[in-house]
Amino acid sequence: MTGPGANVILVGSMGAGKTTVGRRLAEALGLAFVDTDALVERTAGASVADIFTRWGERRFRAIERRVIARAIAGSRQVIATGGGALMDPRNRARLLGGGLTIWLAARPDVMVARLLAAADRPLLTDRDRSETIAALLREREPFYRQALIHLETSDLAPEQAVTNLLRRLRPPAATVAVSSSQGDYAVEIGWDTLSAIGPRLAALGRAGRVGIVTNPRVGALYGKRVLSSVRAAGFRPFLITVPDGERYKTLRTLGRIYDELVRRRFERGDTLLALGGGVIGDLAGFAAATYLRGVAYVHVPTTVVAQVDSSIGGKTGVDHPAGKNLIGAFHQPILVYTDVSTLATLPRRELIAGLAEVVKYGVVADDAFFSYVEAHAESILGRVPDVLAEVVRRSVELKAGVVERDEKEAGLRRVLNYGHTIGHVVETCTGYGAWRHGEAVAVGMDFAARLAHRMGLCSAELVRRQRALLERLGLPWMPPAIAPAKVTRTMALDKKVTRGRVHFVLPEDLGRVRVEPVEADAVAALWREGGRVARGRRP
Ligand code: NAD
Ligand code: MG
Repeated sequence: MTGPGANVILVGSMGAGKTTVGRRLAEALGLAFVDTDALVERTAGASVADIFTRWGERRFRAIERRVIARAIAGSRQVIATGGGALMDPRNRARLLGGGLTIWLAARPDVMVARLLAAADRPLLTDRDRSETIAALLREREPFYRQALIHLETSDLAPEQAVTNLLRRLRPPAATVAVSSSQGDYAVEIGWDTLSAIGPRLAALGRAGRVGIVTNPRVGALYGKRVLSSVRAAGFRPFLITVPDGERYKTLRTLGRIYDELVRRRFERGDTLLALGGGVIGDLAGFAAATYLRGVAYVHVPTTVVAQVDSSIGGKTGVDHPAGKNLIGAFHQPILVYTDVSTLATLPRRELIAGLAEVVKYGVVADDAFFSYVEAHAESILGRVPDVLAEVVRRSVELKAGVVERDEKEAGLRRVLNYGHTIGHVVETCTGYGAWRHGEAVAVGMDFAARLAHRMGLCSAELVRRQRALLERLGLPWMPPAIAPAKVTRTMALDKKVTRGRVHFVLPEDLGRVRVEPVEADAVAALWREGGRVARGRRP
């Protein structure tokens, strides 16, 4: 986890500056500083050099293991580790899984220079220090490389290294302006900004009551922070907590929200705030669209799906027993206030499912963004702050660009349904809830790309690149076992089939798609083939 409460772990060779940089970084972040070598020395009552000469390296490693296990159990710390810590498999598992890992790298010649004066480096007693260092580095580098963030420090003063790392751990805020027929609004994307929501609402000219709609899970994590910030800014806030889950995105829950608003005598000038994922956003947004024929609505999205997708575009609504999102309205928020650091607590499966929509944006609208996601897949999964923030920012920009040009889904907005035709089939046929929406969309994107390739619209290379990326992000692409006839029947029920044909969003190239009618029979035939990609080049 990489949220404001998580540990930051520095790895790298001796002489890379872990202690100096670590201490200053901790100070800047307001975290405690822990140096495992220092803890080992305190535990043993001897210097690292003495431990090595008196008891040998094995003894040192044994103490170090205990010290690391204890340190990792804490939170809100910057932990500087010894140069050899990662060589031990147990340490490695603890450190790489225990926080945001940073490798402070430096060239051998730089390290030699930094270490020449040091007399307390036990592994450097050989006559040829530079050869010793080079050998150690060669041996250890593959392990350091597993850290999420790499920083080359050879040409940086410690201050510069700290500044650089702060930008990566606390990315600066970004704003995406969205225009709509109901008025323009800003999507403000920041890191650890929840506690500043109150002043932000005040600056928008809001006053009076703020009804905060959330669920028990998100409320427990973030409710207090929002509540007290809003209260401190002079508002009279109250919480409306609804049960967690898609199966509560219903008229019944909506009724409970209305009841609460009526009981509190919520007025036209008050503000409804959604704190949560897409379910909360859709529910609270629809309540805001309809209560007193419309009240102002602010979304504080806390899932990837909500931050990159559902909070932009103004679609709100609830499910009906007959189908998802059957009842709803377009109602634009006055502000989307996105604190990307809330993603730190999101369950991994939810994080990954949301990334399907991110890959979708790359394929339908921006090949450079697709490449960015490819280049940063591990950092995204590791929740490296600046990378997450950039992924959210660019996704918002891309979605906003589409919905601004087609607010009510007259045409262009359909490209956002890339992967969704087959995605809906997978969701429906496997029973809603078994698959996350994004997982089903991933399967749908792989299918649509293969279909496009089969039709001569795109290269096999596109199919392979997209599939490889989905796979690296932990998303499925293989179609589940559903009879082809059932696939076409489900599409027909979905009203997507007219006269035996169904409209598919098909990629032509990364960043470019078109919408084409496809024979239902052709869909069934390709479904029968499973996940195979036909060989050959595009005609
Ligand atoms: P969700 O809102 O159910 O959230 C997923 C789970 O994560 C929930 O259990 C929630 O309590 C939990 N959670 C949320 N934030 C958390 C956090 N920061 N830390 C820990 N746990 C957290 O699901 P979702 O994927 O965000 O949204 C799906 C819904 O969004 C669907 O109903 C879908 O129809 C809707 N949607 C709407 C639009 C639109 O344009 N309006 C677009 C896409 C999806
Ligand atoms: Mg979707």
